[in-house]
Amino acid sequence: MIQSLKRQHHQLSHGDKQLDILNGKGEEGRKFDAFGGKLKEIGLLPLTSTGIEIFQINMGKMCNQTCKHCHVDAGPDRKEIMTRDTLQDCLRVIAEGKAITTVDLTGGAPEMNPHFRWFVEKVASLGKKVIVRCNLTIIVANPKYHDLPEFYRKHKVEVVSSLPHFSAARTDSQRGEGVFEKSIRALNMLNEQGYGKEGTGLLLDLVYNPAGAFLPASQPALEKEFKRKLQNKYGISFNSLFAITNMPISRFLDYLLQSGNYEDYMEKLVAAFNPAAATSVMCRNTISVGWDGYLYDCDFNQMLELKVKYPAAQHISQFAFEALDKRDIVINQHCYGCTAGAGSSCGGSTA
Ligand code: SF4
Ligand code: SF4
Repeated sequence: MIQSLKRQHHQLSHGDKQLDILNGKGEEGRKFDAFGGKLKEIGLLPLTSTGIEIFQINMGKMCNQTCKHCHVDAGPDRKEIMTRDTLQDCLRVIAEGKAITTVDLTGGAPEMNPHFRWFVEKVASLGKKVIVRCNLTIIVANPKYHDLPEFYRKHKVEVVSSLPHFSAARTDSQRGEGVFEKSIRALNMLNEQGYGKEGTGLLLDLVYNPAGAFLPASQPALEKEFKRKLQNKYGISFNSLFAITNMPISRFLDYLLQSGNYEDYMEKLVAAFNPAAATSVMCRNTISVGWDGYLYDCDFNQMLELKVKYPAAQHISQFAFEALDKRDIVINQHCYGCTAGAGSSCGGSTA
């Protein structure tokens, strides 16, 4: 019997195994108050979409880095990459979606998708704002990417980049040896194009996330400190700092389990549930498209393989606004990461 249970567990996908843990099953799992119950208490269940304004695309899991906290489990050996046909489907939907203001490109390193530049040009020509989640080091990784800052400027792309800390040691410990120095070089190249400079309209935002199992400090205070340190030491300027909570999924969940911090961290997230943050979770105005065209309420649900709720079409090739615009959102225990403290989203604090 035990053998057969073990075999069944082995056959589960990575997303299913993580969901089991989050729902208190198995040796590693612990039960916490159900996230749905918390939403019910504040009259927010079912959590519903308010309309699709942000169209987020995961262009592939390939990345030149392998960061410890990566919720995508991205890396150089990942082969999953969005095809041109799927990108064409995305373009059709973006063009049809009058309420879609922003197309948010993520990965992996989205720039490693061979159709990346073609796609950015097409989206920009539709008059939509393009955000690229650029890991910075890609710009200096290989001569073929050196002109990315110029390309971004040309298409008025908003660049959002992770920089866990203004100290080299703290950044390198999360993102890998030498990442800080390369990131500084890339930020200088972006500044040279006018990014992060007043009056240019070229937005350069940085993303901070805590180094361990704790919630981020206040976003405005962190932004002030990052601005002062980066300007004084490296002459770097940027627009906004987004403080993001580490989600208890993927590589970060593995880290929490291995380091014995899982229970403590979940307790912190549950205790810090903030109703104001719950009303503004990003899934309410976002749709997230996986590298293979499947549709999710957010990037985190994508990593847990929780597709949008049936009967809405679950693939970009059958995208239907009527069903998706006012859909019920698929929630689970990881959602506590979005509602703790000042809230967390791809654009930083929400409350
Ligand atoms: S740069 Fe981003 S996508 Fe790449 S491994 Fe790091 S966190 Fe993941
Ligand atoms: S994890 Fe996703 S579905 Fe859950 S609250 Fe956050 S954005 Fe919404």
